[in-house]
Amino acid sequence: MSLRAITFDLDDTLWDNRGVMERTETGHYAWLDEALADWLARRGASGLGRFSDRYPQAAYLAARRRLAEQHPLRRGDFSWLRERALVELLMAFGLTRSAAWLWASAAMNRFHALRLDVSPHPEVEPLLEGLGRRYRLGAITNGNLALHRLALHRHFEVAIAAGEIQAPKPDARPFLAALARLETAPSRALHVGDSWKEDVMPALRLGMRAVWIAPEAPPAGSLPEGVHPLRHVRELPALLERLATR
Ligand SMILES: [Mg+2]
Repeated sequence: MSLRAITFDLDDTLWDNRGVMERTETGHYAWLDEALADWLARRGASGLGRFSDRYPQAAYLAARRRLAEQHPLRRGDFSWLRERALVELLMAFGLTRSAAWLWASAAMNRFHALRLDVSPHPEVEPLLEGLGRRYRLGAITNGNLALHRLALHRHFEVAIAAGEIQAPKPDARPFLAALARLETAPSRALHVGDSWKEDVMPALRLGMRAVWIAPEAPPAGSLPEGVHPLRHVRELPALLERLATR
């Protein structure tokens, strides 16, 4: 059966994400701490002390975990969890509710700006350009990156932030939603991602084929049928050619 659509995971599939996440995590919190200290000093309210002294980064993480447990449906909606956690901490620090919301939303703007600073592998742009001429393309991410603000967004007919629809991968729903919008049956679709649990397994269960981006992957023969391991996404066009001639 010939292939009609390809869906892509984003983080650690089209770019290396680790450095970006670290910079974003510490960057937006440090920005909040600085800007808030300035604002308090200008208002003569420095008596509250320094926000990060009372609520270091670990307290922020703990607050997110607590909220995720209290709101299981929201567990994959990282932007929601972050903003609420910041509001909680800022109110506990001593800000009014409205000031806490203002500062939390300003910190989240900073977060999203830093989060967008990803560097897609240099091969990705021409890869998507070429594939877009032959296949319908979609993106399915559990991340909270504002994909519509990246140039490569234009290659995807559909982009699904699975956490924000409260169905993070490996839930089948973001895959089904993408396939519906791409008007493609699972048997004619391929999903490309780096996570065995969140990309490969759910795609296989739906009857899609899967490309597993994994530098250390075992050889294809030792994997279930329909899984094609690649060391890097740049190897995808060659794989598609091999599959087409089978
Ligand atoms: Mg990934």
